[in-house]
Amino acid sequence: MTFTIHGLAVSRGTAIGRAVLVASSHADVAHYFIKPDQAAAEVDRLRVARNAVVVELQRLQADLPPDAPPEIDAVLDVHLMLLEDKELEAGVRHWIEERLYNAEWALTTQMEQLSRQFDEMEDAYLRERKADFEQVVERVLRQMKGATSPIAAPPPARKRGAAQGDLQLDDTLDVPLILVAHDLSPADMLQFKQSVFAGFITDVGGKTSHTAIVARSMDIPAVVGARSASQLVRQDDWVVIDGETGVVIVSPSPILLAEYGFKQRQGELERQRLGRLKNTPAITLDGQRIELLANIELPEDTGPAVAGGAMGVGLFRSEFLFMGRSGHLPDENEQFDAYRRAVAGMGGLPVTIRTIDVGADKPLNEHTERDAAHLNPALGLRAIRWSLAEPAMFLTQLRAILRAAATGPVQLLVPMLAHASEIKQTLQLVQAARADLDRQGLPYGPVKLGAMIEIPAAALVLPLFLKHFDFLSIGTNDLIQYTLAIDRADESVAHLYDPLHPAVLRLVRETIAAGAAAGKPVCVCGEMAGDPALTRLLLGLGLRSFSMHPSQILAVKQAVLRSDTSKLQAWAETVLVADEPATLVYT
Ligand code: PEP
Ligand code: MG
Repeated sequence: MTFTIHGLAVSRGTAIGRAVLVASSHADVAHYFIKPDQAAAEVDRLRVARNAVVVELQRLQADLPPDAPPEIDAVLDVHLMLLEDKELEAGVRHWIEERLYNAEWALTTQMEQLSRQFDEMEDAYLRERKADFEQVVERVLRQMKGATSPIAAPPPARKRGAAQGDLQLDDTLDVPLILVAHDLSPADMLQFKQSVFAGFITDVGGKTSHTAIVARSMDIPAVVGARSASQLVRQDDWVVIDGETGVVIVSPSPILLAEYGFKQRQGELERQRLGRLKNTPAITLDGQRIELLANIELPEDTGPAVAGGAMGVGLFRSEFLFMGRSGHLPDENEQFDAYRRAVAGMGGLPVTIRTIDVGADKPLNEHTERDAAHLNPALGLRAIRWSLAEPAMFLTQLRAILRAAATGPVQLLVPMLAHASEIKQTLQLVQAARADLDRQGLPYGPVKLGAMIEIPAAALVLPLFLKHFDFLSIGTNDLIQYTLAIDRADESVAHLYDPLHPAVLRLVRETIAAGAAAGKPVCVCGEMAGDPALTRLLLGLGLRSFSMHPSQILAVKQAVLRSDTSKLQAWAETVLVADEPATLVYT
């Protein structure tokens, strides 16, 4: 039966495919397709791991001390029995042989399916066996992680979803897959970046949560804040994601399917049309040259940035190099290498590297830190506050960035500053990093220093910032969060997260104006910069530099080409004094 779930649209486009449910705890399990002739080896890999776990459990059982409580013996019996479960085995085989999932993915998929069956059982005793079952699967997964895979590296993700518009509800292998999860951390999303999924749905998350930001950078349709989607959607259900409206349609009727297939083809044609603007300079009708830059998470993202026509990187979120590494942070050389690759990737265009911004919804180690989260993580030890609390780590990063600046144009951007004392300490540490490199005789280059304006307090003391920094970058995602006291990752208050609130617009305008008066560049690198519906307004507020996901650049460029800033300034002033600016902007 067809039903609809409403969430928040975070990434444009339409996706049609089969649902793959992934538990948050299994987001770090490898997901890739194998070749048909690898299926037997993959089934074998699983069998070897399962047999090893059987031996392990049997040994545990044999070694039980005579006075051990009898329950332990009974639990081990249950676990051994579950390992023999035919339904589990047949299910996993199905995912490997019919769908060509790698073994770990097949195992977790089947586990998700059987877990739901456990949940629906009448008998309380049987229902509780779900935990045993999950423990057994965990053991097998751990075993597989320890064993070396016969497939050394995951084969490249097979291109799925070509000709999606003509999709029929059949079982062909080339059906796109849509990932459905309760929650995914930004680090989990990173895992999926090179993956096989044609769309994402999560139960939780706000429009500018970092999970949504990474989904957007992957340029595939995504819906977050879809509440109970992971409960309502079943493994393998057909789903349609409407990335414009945030609507998810489960088990669509043939008519709906045809309609969305058409929409998908239209979207594709629009993209092709925009593609022709790639080499067109971003100049407004009245001759203003506008800088369109890219936001990236990894050095590899410079490829799409250049392909999308970016004139440089306006925001390299360096924290993604640090996440999900179980405490083994990248050392100076590893960081230097990553920054150097980003600089090389841009081929001489400037790269703005932001120093680490962890904390709040970007924990360093998702699974270990989430429970220990502080009550108000967004107001806690994040971004520059964390860096200043860890000066050795910060110095390491600063040295790596300065060294990368010897290989090409680099700007250094500092997040979440608010206090004069923080500015002072930061500048002293940059100096100390240079002195370290001098002592070691390592080459480093010049960097322009920039500050993010993303706390209202910073936007209210702009002369202080302009005195110390060469440029400013407005982080509207956080500026909105902190001005309006709305957690950007909380879907329950997402309707109040308003980029067009007059208070936000005034802070943005003041920052742009103060930068212009001081002759220092100001960029916007929050999600507002990549929303073509807001391009005219930002131009009217005086903005000349926009940094966004590479996939948004051409749509924003189109809006720039159609704009006349000489007329927009007066209009923007009327928007600014309106009680409800949205009514003027979205007309
Ligand atoms: C912002 O806050 O607008 C920003 C660009 O930084 P981040 O989204 O990484 O917090
Ligand atoms: Mg920010």
